[in-house]
Amino acid sequence: MAFDANVRLGRLAGSRGHAFDTAEELLDVMDALGIARALVYAALARESDCARGNQLLQEKISGHPRLTPCWVGIPHRESPGRLVEQMNACKVPAMRVFPNTGHFSIRPWCLGPLARALADAKKALLLDFEGPAWTDDRIDWEGVRQLCVDCPHLPVVVCGITIASPSNYRGLLRECKNLHLEISQLACPGETRRLAGEGFADRLIFGSDLPSRHAGAPLTLVGLESLDEGSRRMILHDNLAGLLTPSGIAVESPQPRAIPRCSPIIDAHVHLGGWNHSFADTGRAEDALREMDRCGISAIIATSLWACFGEVALGNADIAAACSASPKRIHGYLTLDPKYPADARQQIKQYGQNTHFRGVKLHCQTHGVDISDSRCAGILAYANERQMPVLVHQTQISPRPWKDICQRYPHAHFIVAHVGGCGPDNGDALELVRLAAQTENLYFDIAATRNHFGFIEDLVAHAGAKKILFGSDYPLMDFGFELGQVLFSRINPQDKALILSGNARRIFQLSDNDLRLT
Ligand SMILES: [Zn+2]
Repeated sequence: MAFDANVRLGRLAGSRGHAFDTAEELLDVMDALGIARALVYAALARESDCARGNQLLQEKISGHPRLTPCWVGIPHRESPGRLVEQMNACKVPAMRVFPNTGHFSIRPWCLGPLARALADAKKALLLDFEGPAWTDDRIDWEGVRQLCVDCPHLPVVVCGITIASPSNYRGLLRECKNLHLEISQLACPGETRRLAGEGFADRLIFGSDLPSRHAGAPLTLVGLESLDEGSRRMILHDNLAGLLTPSGIAVESPQPRAIPRCSPIIDAHVHLGGWNHSFADTGRAEDALREMDRCGISAIIATSLWACFGEVALGNADIAAACSASPKRIHGYLTLDPKYPADARQQIKQYGQNTHFRGVKLHCQTHGVDISDSRCAGILAYANERQMPVLVHQTQISPRPWKDICQRYPHAHFIVAHVGGCGPDNGDALELVRLAAQTENLYFDIAATRNHFGFIEDLVAHAGAKKILFGSDYPLMDFGFELGQVLFSRINPQDKALILSGNARRIFQLSDNDLRLT
């Protein structure tokens, strides 16, 4: 059972109904996920009124000992001494600040007086940079360093690290012993195990960002990672419990919950080739196979990042080699760049008879050619003739071109990657999702879409489970992290099996012989 450092209570502007109004609602969800305790803050305190929000939090969680209050603060708003006195009176062990939302600096000349008062009172400080985009690193790391050095006895927890952050925090973890990282977006493959191996297991803090994001992702990430049981417990529970009880009060460390399993699993959106934000041991076929084994993935359909970023011939050759070396585990997309029609024709000629290539990939964003551009026509006609899936990373998600394209190429199966880049909270995406429900050959993959709590349930309700394929976007994201929102979703087992393998088997025409199913 876990102790969650990052949970919000109350309604947030723009959250479209995904909010916990009451402690009871939150506790029901925590029970279903196996989260024993949570450090909770009030949405109102983040958005508009710290004082009233913190007071509302106390009212809402009163009588619920599993919920620990975390007040929200702003530097220079009130006397740090008085604030700490109020926190003591209400038994509040931690404060959270939102420097990006609040437009203030975390450097000692701004946050210092509040941070020093918290340190003197043996409280913890959470710096929440919120990380809205998974490839951005919006954290003021030099500010984090200065604050940690200025208050060496203050436990500092940084929230909002993303897959773009690992190069930045490594040196700081060594320098600042009071620095901790909250892992709700620590999705870089193998990064938890790597950090634990470097001796930082005591600095990682489990957090979910419920209800803005699904807790299943970090729970599955930690649950499926190759960690010793002691490190797993520290990350999921003991590290946070220790920070919040500095007087050394013994905390019980409940058994972590087993991750729900499903088999087989086929991942329809995987890359081979390097990705600068990931580490050197993630881009090759052998790395993918090792991580697939760890997370129970039977097979992947892979496209090359080299090809997505322009070196199409190099990338397709790499995929062809990986497929023929592991024919039941790695299948390929032929990645084509419509900007170079002669090259695309040549690639089709070269690999057209290679049965390892089960689909076509168009990366409209990196190649800069929209799916409705006439330069795609020859490629789409090829896929139509072969009844192949076409994985499309599209730059715009208007449903209009899709209706036309799906009609014009009725035998191709179009998979809109990443659910068009966002979830059904977005109006255009919701329209596209609804179009898929009515369009035989239009599908989505859910790669890198970890979204609000209930996202998969919403997608199934609007599009139908038959239209959704599991994809991870490995090596950008960890297989386990990406599996979490499906494994922990509240959909029926038949729908789960369709998403995790049934749909992929159907449209990629993968028979038992094409897969290693044990
Ligand atoms: Zn991708």
